[in-house]
Amino acid sequence: MVNATGGPSVLFAMANNTLFDPALPPLPSYALEPRGDFFPWISDLWLSLILPVFVYWLMSLIFHVIDVLDLFPQYRLHTPEEILRRNHASRYEVARDVVIQQIIQVATGTILALSEPPEVIGMANYDVAVWATRLRLAQRALPGFLSLLGVNATAISKSMSTTHPLLAGALAGGYYPFLSTSESAAPAFAPWETAVARVIYHVIVPGIQFSVAVFFLDSWQYFLHRLMHVNRWMYTTFHSRHHRLYVPYAYGALYNHPLEGFLLDTLGAGIAFKLTGMTVRQGTCFFAFSTIKTVDDHCGYAFPWDPLQLITSNNAAYHDIHHQTWGIKTNFSQPFFTFWDSILGTRYKGPRANRLADKNRTEKTT
Ligand SMILES: [Zn+2]
Ligand SMILES: [Zn+2]
Repeated sequence: MVNATGGPSVLFAMANNTLFDPALPPLPSYALEPRGDFFPWISDLWLSLILPVFVYWLMSLIFHVIDVLDLFPQYRLHTPEEILRRNHASRYEVARDVVIQQIIQVATGTILALSEPPEVIGMANYDVAVWATRLRLAQRALPGFLSLLGVNATAISKSMSTTHPLLAGALAGGYYPFLSTSESAAPAFAPWETAVARVIYHVIVPGIQFSVAVFFLDSWQYFLHRLMHVNRWMYTTFHSRHHRLYVPYAYGALYNHPLEGFLLDTLGAGIAFKLTGMTVRQGTCFFAFSTIKTVDDHCGYAFPWDPLQLITSNNAAYHDIHHQTWGIKTNFSQPFFTFWDSILGTRYKGPRANRLADKNRTEKTT
């Protein structure tokens, strides 16, 4: 390993005669190389473009089989007869417009990908060490912070230096002289610093990226969707097409005017990806997951055991209300959470019993 920061470490003696080294542990060297593909039979780029299309039709096929065989009539939001009677678009028109949207989506993704520099790997250990350095620097502030609270960290550190050396080192401000093999050896990170840094790098940072992307896409879709209902021209020109489906079914999820599909779904997810600095693999998961969620929101069933319908209150039953004439001015939120509807007062508050399937069920049970 080469000391990337360079320069000799400076040693000095503290008043308590403990030898403390103020230098930071060196950062490891790294060598960059192009990232290989996850599967040998398809490039990561093509996977990111194809997987959302594949999962869309796979999920739709599963729900279509459930529909045709009528496997779960008890969980239907509407009767099969309603699909035929109330929808103003044929199954062919719906499938055709979805394919058009997906062609635009793949073309846009290809253009975006061509403008991206090729992904490289090899910096993971270096980046983990950078996080460990930040943890070390945060510890430097610990004695001063504790003294504000009236705690003498140095004294406590000294008293436990033999029994709990790692804790003593942290309390002293991140000094672990015993981790170096000799006086001239470079300082090293404590095992806990490396372990926490790894969790930050591999779990917390990607988690934040994913959460920000979800928040951005929800916000983007809420406000544009609501605008399309407020602006009469936008509604009649673009968004009314999606509302030809009064009784949604799985593959009607992306049945949109091509421009609306591009603006709300393709561009929204694309900006979320760019904004959060995701890798292509992270983006692939995000695009596929948001596609699955959108299909599930239109599936036409309120399953009590569907994990996608349980993790958030935005689900098929919630979005179905927006597709009804009596609920169309409410429940704009999609695809993940419902907080914008709650905050801005557009959440549907009326009874749900005026739905035909609900009425039938109520009559049967009474
Ligand atoms: Zn709408
Ligand atoms: Zn919808």
